[in-house]
Amino acid sequence: MADLKGGCHCGAVRYESSGDVIFGGHCQCTDCQKNSGGGHSSIFAVPKAGVNVSGETKTYEVTADSGSTVGRTFCPSCGGPLYTETSGLPDVMILKAGSLDDPGQFEPGMVIYTKSGKGWDQDVVKGGLPTFEAMPPMG
Ligand SMILES: [Zn+2]
Ligand SMILES: [Zn+2]
Repeated sequence: MADLKGGCHCGAVRYESSGDVIFGGHCQCTDCQKNSGGGHSSIFAVPKAGVNVSGETKTYEVTADSGSTVGRTFCPSCGGPLYTETSGLPDVMILKAGSLDDPGQFEPGMVIYTKSGKGWDQDVVKGGLPTFEAMPPMG
């Protein structure tokens, strides 16, 4: 999964990522519910140094329940969520699988923050992927 390309819904913001994917999965945390408008976000992490973004973006910051400051960046024209940066993983950019030009490239490996998952969003938990009540240990 190298050289990933994607962008927002209206096309004003584009990105390219050349680094190897660090992890991918579905996140059921309450922030991802608010940000996605659904039961979870489908996300993957790549090295920040390998990402190029073009177009005007806006970012808002929230404090995650881990205590990290999380910046969530979106397209101001269409509102499409694009990527997340967290003070807990400063060298990493977390991108939305659905923003890929080919979302079929996404390879989820786990489901995280299942403690916040809602009863109507359990199919993703039953899919056979490893599940974690919160953030799994990272290396
Ligand atoms: Zn847009
Ligand atoms: Zn989340």
